[in-house]
Amino acid sequence: MITEKKTQFLVEELDQLKKNGLFRPLRVLASAQDTEVVVDGKRVLNLSSNNYLGLTTHPRLKRAMVKATEELGAGSGAVRTIAGTMAIHEELERRLAEFKHTEASLVFQSGFTANLGVLQSLVKEGDVIISDELNHASIIDGIRLSKAERSIFKHRDLDDLERHLEKHREKRVKLVVTDGVFSMDGDIAPLAGIVDRAERFGAMIMVDDAHASGVLGKNGRGSVNHFGLDGRVDLQMGTLSKAIGVLGGYVAAPQPVRDFLIHRARPFLFSTSHPPGVAAACIAAIDVLLAEPERIERLWANTARFKAGLKRLGFETGASETPITPVIVGKGSVAMELSDRLFGLGVFAQGIGYPTVPEGRARIRTIVTSVHTDQQLDRALEAFEKGGKELGVIA
Ligand SMILES: *Cc1c(COP(=O)(O)O)cnc(C)c1O
Repeated sequence: MITEKKTQFLVEELDQLKKNGLFRPLRVLASAQDTEVVVDGKRVLNLSSNNYLGLTTHPRLKRAMVKATEELGAGSGAVRTIAGTMAIHEELERRLAEFKHTEASLVFQSGFTANLGVLQSLVKEGDVIISDELNHASIIDGIRLSKAERSIFKHRDLDDLERHLEKHREKRVKLVVTDGVFSMDGDIAPLAGIVDRAERFGAMIMVDDAHASGVLGKNGRGSVNHFGLDGRVDLQMGTLSKAIGVLGGYVAAPQPVRDFLIHRARPFLFSTSHPPGVAAACIAAIDVLLAEPERIERLWANTARFKAGLKRLGFETGASETPITPVIVGKGSVAMELSDRLFGLGVFAQGIGYPTVPEGRARIRTIVTSVHTDQQLDRALEAFEKGGKELGVIA
């Protein structure tokens, strides 16, 4: 009785969400994360995962995880700075640094905590963080936790970036931060221009490659490598949870950055490290990226095929240049309705509305992977055609 009373304010807020059609129960998978999944008891084609290369179920990763777990246990038992640094954690960091062509790297529990840890600790009062307005929530939260001033530039707008750099010319440290690939639109940051501007003003650069790791660059090294900018971006943050198929985040950077973060990044200092099996599976994933580059080729071929199909049907797919393809429908309620219809037609593709994307730009967000077959993609396009026509999204 008493507890019910105390949570009444939450019930009221939830009722408001329901009234606006924005209450979304969690979709529950009863199968592995794959091109087809069992969601809420129904077998559907999956266009909603970040499993770009199909690595979540790759035999090499699974074997590595089981083997490390058998040998080293299920958990690490401590934070990295006390007794939770195992040899396998450092092996992963060496492999990541080598892969990214940087001096060092540091792994965090997730991409989210990597951004939090870096942005909160690296710069301080009197410094400035200059951030693209569409950067990921974890960057926004990291900036909120930092004592540095925040300065937000217009999305992918180099002239506006330059104005912000000019304005903060006198600051001790200027840190420019951008997503490499933007997660809701699938567009790519103009990195060459950003590096050019930042270098002219002596600013540090941080790129969040959560959606570019395993997708862009040679063997999936990311957006910095893609643009031929190796050695010119100070901090390359990436995730091990998307194309890499496991869990975690990292920063690839010069050695002093790693040494500093070990002493100051709070998620690193105060939260337990990965189970050894996670580190082992991530190492196996790097091996797969190096050994099976055809996965990335197939990912891009599938991307081209699916995008062309959506365009042919008359859908608006925005500015995407990557496997993330938004199908923009406008109103939030239409996006949710289309998502529900697609689900009825056997296709799992989530609707995304305000506040994740701007009002009036609600969408179905699709991600194809390297392991989708042509037949599966054609089936998905048929469902989009049917659902889109039923709702009048396409003619
Ligand atoms: C997903 C994502 C993250 C967070 O990564 P996790 O490993 O899932 O915590 C950070 N930045 C961007 C741009 C992302 O898309």
